[in-house]
Amino acid sequence: MPKFGLRIALWYATLFVVGALAIVFLTYYLTASSLAQRDQQLIRGKLADYGAAYARGGIRVLAATVRAEQEAAPERLFVRVVNRGVEAVVLSNAEGWDPETLETASVQLADGTLVQVGKSTEAREALLARFRAVLGIVALSIVVIALTGGWLVTQSAVVPIRRLTRAVRRIIRTGRTDARVPVAGTPGNDDAIDELTVLFNTMLDKIEGLVDGMRGALDNVSHDLRTPLTRLRGTAELALAAAASEDDRERDVHYREALADCVEETDRVLVMLNTLMDISEAESGAMKLTREPVPLAEVVARAVDLYRDVAEAKGVKLTASVPGAGRTVDVVTGDRIRLEQVAANLLDNAIKYTPAGGEVRIEVGRDGDAAVLQVRDTGQGIPADELPRVFDRLFRGDASRTERGLGLGMSLVKAVVEAHGGKIEATSEIGRGSVFAVSLPVSPSH
Ligand code: ADP
Repeated sequence: MPKFGLRIALWYATLFVVGALAIVFLTYYLTASSLAQRDQQLIRGKLADYGAAYARGGIRVLAATVRAEQEAAPERLFVRVVNRGVEAVVLSNAEGWDPETLETASVQLADGTLVQVGKSTEAREALLARFRAVLGIVALSIVVIALTGGWLVTQSAVVPIRRLTRAVRRIIRTGRTDARVPVAGTPGNDDAIDELTVLFNTMLDKIEGLVDGMRGALDNVSHDLRTPLTRLRGTAELALAAAASEDDRERDVHYREALADCVEETDRVLVMLNTLMDISEAESGAMKLTREPVPLAEVVARAVDLYRDVAEAKGVKLTASVPGAGRTVDVVTGDRIRLEQVAANLLDNAIKYTPAGGEVRIEVGRDGDAAVLQVRDTGQGIPADELPRVFDRLFRGDASRTERGLGLGMSLVKAVVEAHGGKIEATSEIGRGSVFAVSLPVSPSH
């Protein structure tokens, strides 16, 4: 089976050639038959003239008419008169003329005399032969043009497909996702192949983004696991080394302390891994959400209960503002536990990053079709270059490293909010405080 491009080219060429040849043949046929028709008309006209001449003065006048005509116009006609089937008189010579090549017609006059006129088809044949030769050349050029034209046209259609195929093959072979297929056409025109190419490139961008994201997350996780694991190892090693020179009681205490440290460190790693898995599940849509109508006021109340003591201990004023009881402006459909986790995480950060004497305020309100939960603090604020990254996994602000934390809280909040069809926005002013605003679609029945 010929290749795709060649096949299309052949199809186009065949159609084109067949059509063109049909026109050529029709032209030839019409020309030939109209030439023959013209000859016939000429002969018939002559026959009428000769019949009239004969009627005027018999064979004599006819012969004179023919002779006069022959002298005037050298159209070489063959004229024959057959008198009552007996005597034939040739009135113009036709020597050397093959009767085969004569176009003839005859008329029977009133007295039974037959007048016959012939005209040589030699000239006509010569003309048609030349015409055939020209048409042959024309037909041949048509075939050549059709084939090259078809080839060129299909090349321009097939080349981008080939390029796409090559690029795909290269990407499969090398496993590199940074390769892109060049777009052939001018941007903006709606070439189907260009569109496919652009789509393909967009898909590669997406895949590359995802792979990069995964790679980055894996790098971060490996890096962040190294610290607690190194500490774990150090603690155990130290306990083993020191224990040799101690008496039993001291050794016992030493071992206990080391083991307690190990448990703590292990817990840290476990929390980190569990949170990472929660984030992944929420982002991929695999997180199990027990959906029910939840008033955000209740969520806030619980979070405030949880953090009241923490805030007090740190000297941070914690206030809440929620819609009054019975008002349902803040009812969303979602997982109560997860939403409480969101509020708790936001409060936790706000208190954590606000120095003593500061204030943290949590509010619930309504904005169009969305219920809004807002946490604002008068804390240290987030530098503008860090603001877009606070929702990245394992990201911790430079000024925040002295605080406890894994850099996973905000990522989890964002993933959970988005799994609920909501969004979160952060604004901050360095030294003055930050605002985290979560919008969630309100329950349809409210
Ligand atoms: P962490 O465990 O470090 O608190 P998070 O994911 O909760 O991690 O937050 C990421 C970073 O965002 C923090 O390290 C901090 O720099 C910044 N951040 C989050 N919330 C606040 C806030 N309320 N005020 C100032 N900085 C904040």
